[in-house]
Amino acid sequence: MVVGGGPGGSATAVRLARRGHAVTVLDRARFPRDKACSEYGSPSTVRELARLGVLPAVEAHGATALTGTRVVAAAGSALLGRFANAGGRPWRPTGLALPRRELDAALLSRARAEGATVLEGARCVGVERQGGTMRVTYEDAGRRREICARLVVGADGLRSRVARSVTGVRRGRLARLAFVAHVEGVRGLDTDAEMHVGAGAYVGLNPLGGGVTNVALVVRHDEATSAAGDPARFVAERLAGFPGLADRVDPSRLVREWLVTGPFDAAARRSTADGALLVGDAADFFDPFTGEGIWSALIGARMAARTLDGALAQEGPVTEAMLAPYRAARRRRFLGKWMVERMIGYAMLHPRLFDRCVGRLQRRGMADTLIGVTGDFVPAWRVLNPAFLGRMVA
Ligand SMILES: Cc1cc2nc3c(=O)[nH]c(=O)nc-3n(C[C@H](O)[C@H](O)[C@H](O)COP(=O)(O)OP(=O)(O)OC[C@H]3O[C@@H](n4cnc5c(N)ncnc54)[C@H](O)[C@@H]3O)c2cc1C
Repeated sequence: MVVGGGPGGSATAVRLARRGHAVTVLDRARFPRDKACSEYGSPSTVRELARLGVLPAVEAHGATALTGTRVVAAAGSALLGRFANAGGRPWRPTGLALPRRELDAALLSRARAEGATVLEGARCVGVERQGGTMRVTYEDAGRRREICARLVVGADGLRSRVARSVTGVRRGRLARLAFVAHVEGVRGLDTDAEMHVGAGAYVGLNPLGGGVTNVALVVRHDEATSAAGDPARFVAERLAGFPGLADRVDPSRLVREWLVTGPFDAAARRSTADGALLVGDAADFFDPFTGEGIWSALIGARMAARTLDGALAQEGPVTEAMLAPYRAARRRRFLGKWMVERMIGYAMLHPRLFDRCVGRLQRRGMADTLIGVTGDFVPAWRVLNPAFLGRMVA
């Protein structure tokens, strides 16, 4: 049983169904649906989508092939990192803009095509372990129903009901809120995504194709209380404070309204429990700045399916001990990336330090390496070493 049909849940269902397991996915939404996201996919995300068999469907919508990322700091320093120059071996030298409406629908359709049963409009309201069985309660058109399963995969995102029920959640110190819209007519954007960092906030621009840009403003949670009731006004005022954006983005030219999400920076206390396992944002959240959330959900799904295949082959209840290989695989794969992501997150809290690092990275030819690490095809140790870090700040 998989709760949540976003990238993490659908990819887990695809992989389990391919291994011959009976899978049911339930999601409170009906697809296609929008999702507040910057919609930036790294080259490794694109590879994972190809493995899952959805890349042709996603590319059919004409999304932009992304060549890299430009970062602009508050005091004006800027860097441009290009996937093609990052070293390592990207599957392709380009990433892809990934409109979530199409991406998530394509992944869920793939799960269905592989044999999973999909229940849309079904909101999970509780998960309980009874004896050796997991009982999932959900609401569907106002009616309360139950499903019992040997195992529950919690893939229900940021405020995971499953994580709260089975492991508990701890909050981080960087609670943020995001406002995301599709805007037309943004000037001066080509095939590189852009991140503009200001005091306590940042803005991402991602060219989606067809003259439409994904614009995402991320602010401190406490600061966003003044947005209540009128997010469009709040966003327009904040965007005007970014020198690199004021005359390029007209926030009134909306193609899709502002979606608001957060607060984020929360993680499950553990990624496994007796009879349950968490993938994607339900397990841990990558700050949107590095654009790694979809990749980590898809890779997490792959690791989860491998562990679950072994656990489900055994008779009797699935215990947390049987899921230990998943926890170990997550640590091996994600630890370095978590450290890079936290390092960037904390550096952004100190604008002068951030500005200096951005300037050094560009002048010393290190920006491509960093983009390769956040693009998921250059190992994190290429950044997490004394020589690189020293050259970045000294
Ligand atoms: C502002 C912002 C920008 C981002 N930009 C990027 C980016 O550019 N690139 C990138 O890779 N990542 C980005 N991310 C992160 C990315 O969106 C997530 O990491 C990714 O969506 C995680 O996938 P998931 O399947 O774990 O969760 P989700 O995509 O959140 O899917 C969870 C699903 O569970 C369903 N659900 C939730 N609760 C219940 C319930 N109780 N019952 C039933 N169903 C439920 C939801 O309807 C949803 O379909 C961004 C995140 C934010 C907030």
